[in-house]
Amino acid sequence: MELDKMDENEWRYHGEGNKSLVVSHVQLSIVLRLLKYPAEDSENPPQTVEQAFRQVQNIVDFSSNVMSCLLGEKFVHSGEVVKLPLEFVRQLSIKVQHQRPAWRCDKVMDIYSGCALCLPNLTSPTLHQPTHTPTLCIEIKPKCGFLPYSKHVSQDIKTKVCRFCMHQHYKVAMGTRKRRGRYCPLDLFSGNRQRMHFAIRQLIDEPQNNLKIFKGGRCIFSSMDGIEDSMDLNSLLHHLRPYFQYGNNRINSHMTSKALLTDFIQVVVNALLSAGGGDGGMGTDRRGEGRSFCEASLFNKERSPHGSQGSPSDSVLYRVRQTQMLDTLDIEGLYPLYRRVEQHLQDFPKERTRLQMDGPYNEAFLEKLHKCPSEDDGSLEYAVSKVHQYRVAMTAKDSQIMVALVPSCEEEEDDEGLPGQRQHRDFLSSRPPAFSYSVSILDLDPKPFDNIPRQLRLDQNIVSCYLRSSCALP
Ligand code: ATP
Ligand code: MG
Ligand code: ZN
Ligand code: MG
Repeated sequence: MELDKMDENEWRYHGEGNKSLVVSHVQLSIVLRLLKYPAEDSENPPQTVEQAFRQVQNIVDFSSNVMSCLLGEKFVHSGEVVKLPLEFVRQLSIKVQHQRPAWRCDKVMDIYSGCALCLPNLTSPTLHQPTHTPTLCIEIKPKCGFLPYSKHVSQDIKTKVCRFCMHQHYKVAMGTRKRRGRYCPLDLFSGNRQRMHFAIRQLIDEPQNNLKIFKGGRCIFSSMDGIEDSMDLNSLLHHLRPYFQYGNNRINSHMTSKALLTDFIQVVVNALLSAGGGDGGMGTDRRGEGRSFCEASLFNKERSPHGSQGSPSDSVLYRVRQTQMLDTLDIEGLYPLYRRVEQHLQDFPKERTRLQMDGPYNEAFLEKLHKCPSEDDGSLEYAVSKVHQYRVAMTAKDSQIMVALVPSCEEEEDDEGLPGQRQHRDFLSSRPPAFSYSVSILDLDPKPFDNIPRQLRLDQNIVSCYLRSSCALP
């Protein structure tokens, strides 16, 4: 990619979240992730070019120096900051505008700074591809996978029903969703195949903002609008069928839809439980055992009477959950510490830099995060350390897991793949055809310090709404 010869015709709309818009290159396996900001600000940008550059650089640093250490290097691709010609960015913004979902258009793409993040395209990584079958990729935003165990939790319900399930009630009450989804993160993180299968099945039925499926780098399945899921399961099945026709099925050519979906989910479950290559032991995630069920989950516990072991300690799910669990105090226990820091910053504004409240996210930041007294000694250092840990946990709770799959060819077991590629080859032990896969974690932006009070309010609103609506239930 030559930065001085950028051509908008070589890029296409790929997707977007709340904070950024992503375009992918039509030939190379790369994407550009551009910042977005509220449409009201479209005339005058909310930050200077230098600030935008800092923001994108902070994202790279936070991902590579902090999140990557916690989640495992093999899963994290931090990318690099690029400075794009403004004319290219303007043309690009015009080009993609009509492809953007209407409900996302309350924000506009940043066309002033020219700053962007250049990342490998994780929906079409160059996996070992014996055939030219397009890569299948499933993106899951799993959300928080544990129940808070902090002594600061004031409402008992928070130790029984997970945050995601309570939030579903709140979204319906606020009119941001029509119906509650039945996905529960605790099922996905359980490490129990049946529960994981159930969780993914619920996501397929109602993807909301938590599931997207790509084929050949293009999104073929997602929630199309913010309010209601109007996805066509038949269309998904049609896309999946060629990957799962095997053995007798190939001859009989008609595998039932149920069997097809079961095979697909099984492959995804295998990839999520796998080591993803590299280090890691054989242990399982036993922390929080015994309280790993969410009372709101519709999974029938009798189907799995022996509880769940947790996911293997070298799996992506384990790493994500472990990082989420750096939120040890819950927002209720964290808030007074936030206030302690905030008070100090009001008295000594220059301390904001020394305490690295807005970065830089370097080794010193990681050290502050790790070097935390085990008990609250009333110090500023304790509070800062806990606030940093909480923000890291927030990032992990908001990230997405990407599983890219291509059918593998069993004869070529000795192939090492291309050098420098974080690729994890394995023949999944599934009954259907084996897949080569690669697992990554994305969207690892730092969450602002100043967002913490909003988190407390949201938590209170969600819990009180849940208590009200669950009292009203039969
Ligand atoms: P959120 O609202 O979840 O915070 P965001 O605005 O931070 O989202 P991302 O989640 O990073 O944005 O990106 C938006 C979408 O773009 C993702 O859901 C994913 O589908 C796609 N995407 C982002 N990065 C990549 C990548 N490296 N490769 C392929 N697709 C990507
Ligand atoms: Mg995202
Ligand atoms: Zn739940
Ligand atoms: Mg994000």
